[in-house]
Amino acid sequence: MNNVLVHNATVVTLGKTNRVLHNHSIEICDGHIKTIAPNKTFLTQNMSSHRILDATGSVAMPGFMNAHMHFYSTLVRGLGKAEPSKNFNEVLHNLWWRLDKKLTLEDSYYSALVALIAAIRSGTTTLIDHHASPFAALGSLNEIARAVRESGLRASLCYETSDRDGPEICENGLQENINFARQCAQDNDNSLKAMIGLHASFTVSNKTLEKSVQAAHDLNVGLHVHTAEANSDQGACEHEHSMRVVERFKKFGVLGNKTICAHGVFLSDHEMDLLAATKTAVVHNPQSNMNNAVGVANVLKMLEKGILVGLGTDAMTLNMREEVRTALWLQKLNAKDPSVGFCEMLSTLLHNNAVIAKQQWENLTLGEICEGGVADVVLLDYYAPTPFSDDTFLGHFAFGLTQSNVRTTIANGKVLMHNSQLELPIDEPRVFARSQELAENLWKRF
Ligand SMILES: [Zn+2]
Repeated sequence: MNNVLVHNATVVTLGKTNRVLHNHSIEICDGHIKTIAPNKTFLTQNMSSHRILDATGSVAMPGFMNAHMHFYSTLVRGLGKAEPSKNFNEVLHNLWWRLDKKLTLEDSYYSALVALIAAIRSGTTTLIDHHASPFAALGSLNEIARAVRESGLRASLCYETSDRDGPEICENGLQENINFARQCAQDNDNSLKAMIGLHASFTVSNKTLEKSVQAAHDLNVGLHVHTAEANSDQGACEHEHSMRVVERFKKFGVLGNKTICAHGVFLSDHEMDLLAATKTAVVHNPQSNMNNAVGVANVLKMLEKGILVGLGTDAMTLNMREEVRTALWLQKLNAKDPSVGFCEMLSTLLHNNAVIAKQQWENLTLGEICEGGVADVVLLDYYAPTPFSDDTFLGHFAFGLTQSNVRTTIANGKVLMHNSQLELPIDEPRVFARSQELAENLWKRF
């Protein structure tokens, strides 16, 4: 049944003017929101062609978005073999660059599928992923895309091209980005988009930068690159190129309104000005930055300078509500001022991620519950203990809704989960059993 009526929710619209609408219903037809109206509006209508979802005691919100993710990281959970790392570069050498070399195409598919299932369970409906599997690069994005299609979610994919494993693998990475972006342009599908991925300044040569930017330009897509995640990225850039990372990206044409610079922990004022002037998005990943002990990105300063800052998880979680709470506390602590950052940090998730996503899904109204908008809707179990209105919403979100159970996840108008039961043609226990087998084999090769 393509038509759904979400009956009797408290609707939080988000969008430019956020509204909290009590005792409302949302009518979904053919992937889009057709009507948002008080419950009683639908009493007089024949709704027999609709599936009715009882939303009593829940808040309906737009699905959450993760603007920087690595699906493949899922297979590392519990791996204890990596040597202890004393800094970020050691984390890469001891763990991630040992692991990604061993990934197969099947690993890429299953790691994406299990992460996407977790995303559905967390109410995350749009994800922007950054993939690495250097010895199985060609075809990897197609495998991930297959998992995305099966999940019913929306994702933008790229492969992190890098010179770190030699010229042939670097070329494969770039080619994989190009092949996939061409395929996406041809398919013109609402669920899948492409970017040109680059690992980071310190692992890409000038030639690779040039070729990647040219490809992004030719295919009319953005670039997605780790940017000054650790101070060592800046050190390498200053040493080898006598300039800062963002200055180097500016010189080669990486920056622009479709590009995503992930992390931005170590940015000078001048670099922030370049990002703002070029309308380049920065995606903040606070839990990852804390886990790697790299430092604290000065998000409040970036926002003051007019940079569009979104929120990602860098694979630390699929739960965006957990990530945004961390982002909030961290900025307050960093500023040693409890009065700062409340609205700003919540807006990275609730507003800015949608602006970033719209650079890619140009024809869709995302991140907003509005008539005509795409039906990416989540229901969160919630009875408000205090007055709940447009004015008090952010407090309810930060301290209540971020802790709620996800009852229902709808993407593109399809009910993917209801009452915590997945409604997909996916055999969940079998998928996780296979993922365990693959992880066991991967860990043996590690
Ligand atoms: Zn990352």
